Amino acid sequence: MPNMQESRSETARFDDLYWEPRAEPIVEDDAFLAEIIAQAELPVLLAAIAAALGDTSSLSSDLQPPLSPVDTQPHPHGGMSPDQQERAKEVALAGLRELRDNGITAVDLLPDETVTDLLRFLTAGREHWYGSLKHELDLAADKGGAPQWHFDDVADGREFPVLIVGAGIAGIAAAHRYKQAGVPFIVVEDAPMLGGTWAKNSYPGVRLDTPTFGYSYSFAQRGDWPHQFAQGRDVLDYVRDVAERAGIIENIEFSTRLNRLRWDERARMWKATTRDAAGKEQTRSFAAVVSALGQLDRPHIPHFEGIDQYRGVTMHSQEWSHEADYAGKRVAVIGTGASAYQIVPALADDVEKLVLFQRTAPWMLPAPNYHDRVTDAFTWLRRKVPHYAQWNRLWATVQGIPGRLHTVTAEEGWEGAPLSVSRKNQEVRDVLTGLLAAQFEERPDLLAHAVPNYPPGAKRMLRDNGVWADALKSPHTTVVTAGIDRFSEHGIIDSHGVEHEVDIVVFATGFKPSDYLDEVEVIGRDGVEIHDFWKGDARAYNGITVPGFPNFFLIYGPNVGGVVAGSLHFMIERAVEFSLKSVYEILQRGVSAIDVRPAALDRFVDWIDAGNRRMAWGQPYVHTWYQNAHGRVSQVWPYTNAEYWQITEAVSESDHEFIA
Ligand code: NAP
Repeated sequence: MPNMQESRSETARFDDLYWEPRAEPIVEDDAFLAEIIAQAELPVLLAAIAAALGDTSSLSSDLQPPLSPVDTQPHPHGGMSPDQQERAKEVALAGLRELRDNGITAVDLLPDETVTDLLRFLTAGREHWYGSLKHELDLAADKGGAPQWHFDDVADGREFPVLIVGAGIAGIAAAHRYKQAGVPFIVVEDAPMLGGTWAKNSYPGVRLDTPTFGYSYSFAQRGDWPHQFAQGRDVLDYVRDVAERAGIIENIEFSTRLNRLRWDERARMWKATTRDAAGKEQTRSFAAVVSALGQLDRPHIPHFEGIDQYRGVTMHSQEWSHEADYAGKRVAVIGTGASAYQIVPALADDVEKLVLFQRTAPWMLPAPNYHDRVTDAFTWLRRKVPHYAQWNRLWATVQGIPGRLHTVTAEEGWEGAPLSVSRKNQEVRDVLTGLLAAQFEERPDLLAHAVPNYPPGAKRMLRDNGVWADALKSPHTTVVTAGIDRFSEHGIIDSHGVEHEVDIVVFATGFKPSDYLDEVEVIGRDGVEIHDFWKGDARAYNGITVPGFPNFFLIYGPNVGGVVAGSLHFMIERAVEFSLKSVYEILQRGVSAIDVRPAALDRFVDWIDAGNRRMAWGQPYVHTWYQNAHGRVSQVWPYTNAEYWQITEAVSESDHEFIA
């Protein structure tokens, strides 16, 4: 175990707060190793072994996985043929023996050519992905996420205080990178604790609905996750632990809400007005502001007639009341999105009666391991093969680059609309419909309402291991598709006039994602308020900057949410890095501020809109929270992470005005 000093320098060298210096020695015999190999994801294992041995000669091109595109479920081993798999197992056995017999338990940063060989092997030679993948590869020397400069070397004695708003996933990423660069900053967080959405959402059943290994920071590659899809409390623990390891907690002012930002033209500074828990207002000046406010955290509770007369308990999914014990009660859940999908099965067995109000059926992708722990074989590999878990994370990233984009891309003139957008999309529809038919075989009444009437992927797809269907088929569950007419004193009256008496109503009715910054007044150059500029249609260059709002950076801003491809953390980290590169430009050039040019924003938005128009969610007959009140898709990034890596690599001179 290295001492604290060593571990800090190792962390800096390796850009991974969870850097694992050493694996446990392999002591098991060949028969045991063969059994483990039979359960391993072979491309991951081959890459990890080659890296640890420092020898990529075993990764011959005929062993390369074809990386078959993911339609509904990932193909095991990236689609390797049975023959490839057999040969890969032999190579893996020889490799594990070599690790064991030579006592190899550690791996260091890899030479460039080794990195290239490994990426070629894992991506079937897609060179245009290498940049974004190196960003995720803990063993790449030029990983590129951490700032390669220090404030003291470029600031020339200048003061440059930065305000980071929010201590959720984005705020913590920003704080970590700004701290690494030595840029002075504080974080204000409205809540009394950090963690953002993972601190706020504590409803029964809360967990990731994307595989765990695709949901972590490139600079904090935890390997020992217990579940395939991490539980909410594990994600929250991780986020807190990252903040601790990054040493940024002391920079956070908790229970402090940002109310107002005003650009002071003369001082070339932002004046930020905050309010603390005691109601005390404070206005302070900052050279730059990084908004890391979340998108999905302002509850949307629709207005229903009579709701004031209802005598039972109501709660939004994000504001779960743990005092209101639902066991043995009659509970209504309104909504069938990602939140309801987790809540309903978690309640179903404990309540006396469950009434589910479904307006639209959800599409669900098969995920048989949705509630499973990681396997014993995975745990063994993680402990014994240096950085196996990190290679596994990289493999999830590789597969996530194209993700399912090809299944949701619309074909011009396709006649299956509005049920599908292309031949491939129709194929997915057929597969998923078949799975629903099997699950609801004995309940044709439910099946009639279980198949969505819109194309797969047009709205967020959920994960299916059968628990949703089981909960709906339960004898004490009623699925109401008639729509809600009004609330009564005792429950909800549907549009057929049937009253459903319930003790608790859960609004799993989503959020207000298109109302970016809606609770903050942001006044930029010439006194323009950002919402007046946007007019209900939030737009930002690279999802990050807005013309007329200098030195103001949005992390996870408009149009950067990947929904069928890519990683949230990647988009967040790249936006943070772009903001830091902008700060570097300001300091290096000795100017006061950077402001993006309106033409650059227009060009970016045109490009994004063209991409989204080709997607299932961009079709005129689709209605989803991905769109704003104007009908423009303002949440979603329609391309891959590789394109976002490209556009956030450098701060373009021609796209920006530098203000003296
Ligand atoms: P959501 O996807 O917006 O779903 C809201 C649900 O409420 C929909 O089924 C919607 O029906 C229904 N609804 C809204 N207004 C209604 C009304 N007036 N009457 C009847 N039904 C109404 O919200 P969410 O489930 O909270 O999820 C939001 C997003 O948060 C997700 O897409 C995901 O990105 C994220 N999330 C992630 C996780 C995770 O990773 N574990 C978990 C939860 C949420 P329509 O479909 O007909 O509009």
